[in-house]
Formats: sequence, structure tokens, C-alpha cells
Amino acid sequence: MQESIQKLVEEGKMLPLMEEFYTIQGEGYYKGTAAYFVRIGGCDVGCHWCDVKESWDANLHPPTATNIIVDNAVKYSDVVVVTGGEPLTWDLTILTETLRSKGAKTHIETSGAYPMTGTWDWVCLSPKKVKLPHEGIYDKAHELKMIVYNKSDFKFAEEQAAKVNKDCILYLQPEWSVRDKMVPLIVDYVMNNPKWKVSLQTHKYLNIP
Ligand code: SF4
Repeated sequence: MQESIQKLVEEGKMLPLMEEFYTIQGEGYYKGTAAYFVRIGGCDVGCHWCDVKESWDANLHPPTATNIIVDNAVKYSDVVVVTGGEPLTWDLTILTETLRSKGAKTHIETSGAYPMTGTWDWVCLSPKKVKLPHEGIYDKAHELKMIVYNKSDFKFAEEQAAKVNKDCILYLQPEWSVRDKMVPLIVDYVMNNPKWKVSLQTHKYLNIP
């Protein structure tokens, strides 16, 4: 990457954009809501079951001017979901300030592996065992979305739930490739522990991105 472009990326004036699309939010509290998704490349968390591994290498995704990302997004929706990759790899201050100045609600989906930047109307925190969230991020989460890949993830989910603020909504979501095996366990768990709710990747059932 050219030095001048790298500087703009470091400042958040450009971001390595992997893809952007208008769709329906499939997961969590805003499930069913039309939203514009901005997927930013770059992630070093390394979840073995990750379904967007092509996002990991930021160098594969073109540095794109943040104001162009914003202009594209607000043409479609006033709800903009920023995801990745791990979007907090980057400074998202300018992205969120510009989106909010144009009347958009800013939502983020993050593992919390890096300190929070930007101003968010909705924070979906999805902690990963291999790189735990920064301590400061738990208090900012509106929803905690724990991915359940195997039985030990219920214990990890409880450990993470003990750290979030009292208003945070708690979700258990089966990892897609093991959903047939994990859904019955999640259903039982939620009935026995009703502070949790079930989240499903409904966009995959709807066959939309
Ligand atoms: S944090 Fe997200 S993008 Fe990164 S490896 Fe894990 S699931 Fe994939």
C-alpha cells in the first residue's frame, strides 16, 4: 500500500472495503430490519469456524474513501451495520461521525478485540475465546451475541454475560455449520436459563446476504 494511502487508512479517512450491500439484518435484536451493511476487511482474531475468512487479509480489499462509503450507504438506508472482518481494527471515528451527520443510525458487530472507536447507536458484541474483548467494551454492548459451536461455549457465554452491563440483551446463536446439532441444546439451555434468547442467522434461511 502506498504510504499516503496507508496514512489515510490509519486516520480512518479511507477503509479497506470488502463489500457493501443493502439487505435484511438476519441476527440479534434488529433481526428482520432492512439495513445497509458495510463489511470492512482485516481480522486477526482467527476463529476456526469463521465464515468470512476472505475478510482476514486487509490488503485484499481496496482502500475506499470513507465519505464515499457513507454516500453509498445513506442512499439506501438510515440503518447502517458496520461489520467485518473485525471492524475495530480501524479507527471508525470519521465513519460514524459522517454517517450520523447524515441522519443514519450506526450499528457495529464486533468481537471487541480492539478498543472501541466511533459513536454507535447499537453495539453487538460477539466475544471470541481466541482473542477476548477489551475490558472497556463490555459496558458499551447493547447485545451480547455468543456463538455456540460446541458444549463448552455455554460456559464461555456465561463468563462473558457476567461482564456486560445489566441492560445488555443476551443471545445464544448456533454456529451455522453445526446448527442441526446445537439448536436443540440451545433451546434447552434457554428454557432453563431464560435470561438468554435464541438468535438464528435468519438471512441464511431467507437465502439473502
Ligand atoms: S472475529 Fe469474526 S471475522 Fe474475525 S475470525 Fe472471528 S468470526 Fe471471522
